Amino acid sequence: AAKDQGRRTYAFYKSEMTESATHYMTRSLELRRGLEKGELTLYYQPQVDAKTGEMTGTETLIRWNHPQNGILGPAEIIPIAEQSGLIVEIGQWVLEESCAQARRWQDEGFDPIRIAVNVSVRQMRTQGFAKTVQTVLADTGLDPKWLEIEVTESMIQDEDIMIDTLHELRAVGVSVAIDDFGTGYSCLRSIKSLPIERIKIDRAFIKGIPQNTDDAALAEAMIAMARTLGLKVTAEGVETTAQRDFLHRQGCNELQGFLFSKPVPAEQLFKSSHSSTKIS
Ligand code: C2E
Ligand code: MG
Ligand code: MG
Ligand code: MG
Repeated sequence: AAKDQGRRTYAFYKSEMTESATHYMTRSLELRRGLEKGELTLYYQPQVDAKTGEMTGTETLIRWNHPQNGILGPAEIIPIAEQSGLIVEIGQWVLEESCAQARRWQDEGFDPIRIAVNVSVRQMRTQGFAKTVQTVLADTGLDPKWLEIEVTESMIQDEDIMIDTLHELRAVGVSVAIDDFGTGYSCLRSIKSLPIERIKIDRAFIKGIPQNTDDAALAEAMIAMARTLGLKVTAEGVETTAQRDFLHRQGCNELQGFLFSKPVPAEQLFKSSHSSTKIS
């Protein structure tokens, strides 16, 4: 609803095409201005151990603190950033700030946790992406083992350059997770050959658990498949204790979702209530 309130309304006489072109131009100029003015900000959502409820990691999720429209989500940022090419600059900033933040938490004395950063296809296709990641880690002083890069299935379909980049990332010492797993077209065999550490089961499958027997069976199969391949599994969009218990029973390693915490600003991450939902 907040997103809808933020959406501009346009004069009725404009054709749909003019309207969307105007919308796009306005928004991409605004986004550049927002980036320059420091209006982009990062939220962090806990990822917890399915067995103990302990926070083991966090995912960085971008927000835009828009002066008129309030806090805007990635749906209002990423498509425009992708189209305008700003995504490369924004993605680089997200990576730098995430690694710097992870290092700050460690310096503040919190137990180290993994930090997961989403990257877009255009960002990952930039020349020397893995080297860029390595430089950011060196500059921020974060051990590569704490960084996880999240890519989607569709980004790596039969694309040699992407697969090369995945191998280079592994050589740097960072891990890679396949995000939104189950929504793309990966077959078992393509996943098997990829240098990845984790799959994240898309929220769409978690939603129907446990009532929807198809969703439950699919989630169960994805977990079993991942375990057979020696991959870790995170379920995203976990909202209920019934989902948590089902996923834990199936052998899912980690859970992420509103049941534990919404994405929060950096200073709230270690204060959020995820640990109070421990399985006893
Ligand atoms: P994602 O990577 O799959 O991130 C998970 C999304 O699910 C987030 O939405 C998160 O807020 C939401 N979510 C988490 N738990 C729950 C839950 O229990 N219920 C429900 N209904 N939703 C939950 P968000 O923050 O709107 O991000 C949407 C997408 O935008 C992300 O999906 C990711 O693909 C993209 N994104 C976010 N930040 C970045 C970024 O820095 N760079 C790039 N390239 N993409 C980003
Ligand atoms: Mg993600
Ligand atoms: Mg996801
Ligand atoms: Mg998703």
